[in-house]
Amino acid sequence: MTRVMNPRKEIEDLISKGDLEGLLKKAGELHGHFCPYLALGVRASYIALKALRAEQSTGMEELVAIVETNNCFSDGVQMVTGCTFGNNGLIYRDLGKTAVTIAQRGGPAVRVALKAEYIDGFSTRYPEASALFEKIVVKHEETTQAEREKLMELWAESSFDQLKLPEDEVFTVKHVKVEVPPLAPIFASVRCSVCGENVMETRARVKNGKPICLECAGAEYYVLDGSGISVGKGKLLQRGS
Ligand SMILES: [Zn+2]
Ligand SMILES: [Zn+2]
Repeated sequence: MTRVMNPRKEIEDLISKGDLEGLLKKAGELHGHFCPYLALGVRASYIALKALRAEQSTGMEELVAIVETNNCFSDGVQMVTGCTFGNNGLIYRDLGKTAVTIAQRGGPAVRVALKAEYIDGFSTRYPEASALFEKIVVKHEETTQAEREKLMELWAESSFDQLKLPEDEVFTVKHVKVEVPPLAPIFASVRCSVCGENVMETRARVKNGKPICLECAGAEYYVLDGSGISVGKGKLLQRGS
């Protein structure tokens, strides 16, 4: 019954026990592989939660996590904090920095960021993995299956290392003030007069007196992808068209 009532019980228990390895393993389930930035996201979230808990003890559902880039780090944040893209607990500021701010609605907030010196020293600390990363992920050079497997193996090993390094070498922790937007309102839907799909009222336009979705209207909309937020336009291509 408890599992049904609180599906995040296992994760919350790992947080209370300070079991960072256990948390990283859970984050791997979401992320699909183990890598240093995933581990850093797990650890940064844990540090922020601990700092907030010390001040006030409210339920996790009151939390929001603000991330500043959508790299592997953000999946560690989502798994540990439970603030996700889907539950509107996750706020994305498109700043391109590896940092997370965890805030209680109407309460205190803590921002944990990666130190620049730490990032600079990364390739010296992991020369083999960094060279392979450069070759495979950055330059998309031709590689063998063995090289790709080696990178995943080294990355997985180094991800667990990130949990043990002295905290003040890796992170800057600051208490900050943030304005958290109100809980996501529920918007009514209207039916697009062209494609017939339902669309949130705030995302619809009116054409010839009838509602029309942004795609059918050929209007611009925001897209979040691997490069951050940009303005998109147009429809997904249909198969065969
Ligand atoms: Zn990753
Ligand atoms: Zn439409």
